[in-house]
Amino acid sequence: MKVLVINCGSSSLKYQLIDSVTEQVLAKGLCERIGIDGRLTHKPTGKNPVQISVDMPNHTTAVGLVLKELTDEANGVISSLEEIGAVGHRVVHGGEKFAASVVITPEVIADIEACNDLAPLHNPANLIGINACAQLMPHVPMVAVFDTAFHQTMPEKAYLYGLPYEYYEKYSVRRYGFHGTSHSYVSKRTAQILGKDPKDLKVIVCHLGNGSSICAVDGGKSVDTSMGLTPLEGVPMGTRSGGIDPAIVEFIANKEDLTLEQTMNVLNKKSGVQGISGVSSDFRDLQAGADQGNKRCALARDVFAYSVAKYVGAYAAVMNGVDVISFTAGVGENDPDIRKKVCSYLGYLGLWLDEEKNCVRGKEEIISTAQSKTLAMVVPTNEELAIARETVALL
Ligand code: AMP
Repeated sequence: MKVLVINCGSSSLKYQLIDSVTEQVLAKGLCERIGIDGRLTHKPTGKNPVQISVDMPNHTTAVGLVLKELTDEANGVISSLEEIGAVGHRVVHGGEKFAASVVITPEVIADIEACNDLAPLHNPANLIGINACAQLMPHVPMVAVFDTAFHQTMPEKAYLYGLPYEYYEKYSVRRYGFHGTSHSYVSKRTAQILGKDPKDLKVIVCHLGNGSSICAVDGGKSVDTSMGLTPLEGVPMGTRSGGIDPAIVEFIANKEDLTLEQTMNVLNKKSGVQGISGVSSDFRDLQAGADQGNKRCALARDVFAYSVAKYVGAYAAVMNGVDVISFTAGVGENDPDIRKKVCSYLGYLGLWLDEEKNCVRGKEEIISTAQSKTLAMVVPTNEELAIARETVALL
């Protein structure tokens, strides 16, 4: 079966067409600036990529253009839409309602809508993508794969905040966690590479990218994770603050004369390593800055690695041990220096980095020495493949 994987944002839409038997990517691409003007980048495997500037007033037009490119005589990879057997949608927030992926029905759409409050920037966009595909491919079954679902196994003691309990009861305020598809994929793949049953492993997955989260996976189940009600909690990220003293919100709002909304914008868009360095949210730029002697660039990288190491320590404690630390996503897969910095705190776990193996970028590798009691690994994530697998499994 060929599965179209859709990841729909407020003004963008990423897609991949995956052959579920060979697990090969047949084509992938990105629609940007939807509702503004519109740009489509389409990369058919084995053919030249194409970039088209084209009017995209809404997501339905964008999906229509994607389907046109996929079946195009020159740039296409399938001869007709009949070849698409299913669509898998990434949905950010499934609340407590969705602990697993589901086949999309009108009831499911209503239940996703009910979670909009919890992810006001993401869920409405995901729903627009679902509705656009339903309109253009009404007979193709669709599956929703939630970022939060993998973490629904967390125990109450891990997901409850120290707030009045009624806020949990009335408003569902609790830790949900995100990047679940990635944490699930990477923890399973970690076990597979080691030839072990996930049930027999304690893994800490460090998903380090523009957004970063750490997850404790005990026996194949998420037992704790660093992101919370929203993806703002946890380690400092590209532009997000991560966990801070909540009193800072009021303090800064008063000092800078900002509204609550403006202050939250600072925490989401102007903080993290961007805020500390004042230079960039991109770890490559920070490395270049640090190499040229920019102290704040070096400091931003240090703060980030230190914070990741603190979560690793906390999760090793709550799982009463850890067998493997797996690094994934843009920074985790490609930045040996950040991995080295994080692992420099983990000698007490009997984890020693093999400096040569740690030079790896974007490839599966065990990067700890043979003598290490706790392993460190690089395991590239593949959320699209995971979504395609879930979609096929459900149908
Ligand atoms: P992601 O959100 O997983 O796509 O990760 C994006 C981030 O990964 C970028 O902002 C970069 O900071 C980082 N990144 C990507 N490639 C590299 C690289 N080769 N070296 C260091 N960092 C990288």
